[in-house]
Amino acid sequence: MHSLRNTFHPLARDVAGSLLLASGVTRPARAARGRLTVVTFHRILPEEKLREYPIEEIAVSVEEFGWFVDYFRRHYSCGTLASVYRRWVGGDRPERPFLAITFDDGQLDGWEHARPVLDRAGIAASFFIPVDGVDRDELLWHDRLGYAARRLLGADRPRAEALLGSAGDDRTLVTAAMERAKGLPPEERLAFVARVEGALPGAARPAWDGLMSWEQLRALSRSGHEVGSHSVTHPILPLVDDAQLAREVAGSKARLEAELGVPCESFCYPNGDCDERVVEAVRRAGYLRAVTTAWGPNAPGADPFRLTRCDMDARRARNRAGALSEPRLALRLSHFFPGAR
Ligand SMILES: [Zn+2]
Repeated sequence: MHSLRNTFHPLARDVAGSLLLASGVTRPARAARGRLTVVTFHRILPEEKLREYPIEEIAVSVEEFGWFVDYFRRHYSCGTLASVYRRWVGGDRPERPFLAITFDDGQLDGWEHARPVLDRAGIAASFFIPVDGVDRDELLWHDRLGYAARRLLGADRPRAEALLGSAGDDRTLVTAAMERAKGLPPEERLAFVARVEGALPGAARPAWDGLMSWEQLRALSRSGHEVGSHSVTHPILPLVDDAQLAREVAGSKARLEAELGVPCESFCYPNGDCDERVVEAVRRAGYLRAVTTAWGPNAPGADPFRLTRCDMDARRARNRAGALSEPRLALRLSHFFPGAR
């Protein structure tokens, strides 16, 4: 099964991707006709920073991002989630279907590296912000743990192994630590992250990393980008009590509106986790729509509070020769067959 996945599937995907694009089946104008596609990015980093960044799956290089944006610009009508959603539910059906580019977690690279690419392409995007992270300029726990674990493995191997385990190479240990932390209750998880960070003599995160400031978010908003809410503390919302749920959902909206001076219309569920109670809280707080992490373009009539997205991973857009491939991306975004993800 493994060898099949590694050898047969990439070849099949390349061949199918090329044939389907050439025949027009996966061409966005046809495959995404009438649909709303929402793509997700997390980290946009230049090569030298990418090498320091611990979670490969959620990072693309600035060059890769430029390639994605160029493809979107040529094949879709792009805009903020708020703007394209409004046109889409209004019944507008342009020849190039609607696509919204979204960024989760509010990191500084959105400002430093994604914004210039978007501005050059004349495309406005949506940025989902965890309010507390901005207030404290603190990265989310997975980034903190990733950086700290990696640095500690390099600086003090015995100490690192005592905290992280010793079965495997650095990459395996960092991944295992992430998985372990994910399974812990929130307080224990943060305590574990703090223990790993505390074992280092200096700072865990590189000096270049951090979250956007309120000033930068105001500038983003003024220049036409959308700033939406990604809660206050990025918790798993179905697990919090009603009082915290209200703070996370309504509190973040009020705060963003006070800081930015414009209505905050769109919400993004942390980790994509939502249930009936959470959806109801988001609706009641006055948001007009919300996005999940479930995969796929949205068909007309989609629930505005459970919009699906397509997570963009540059490795999956490469052909078996390692080159960024439009047929592969078209196949993936077409949702033509689920195995193509
Ligand atoms: Zn997030």
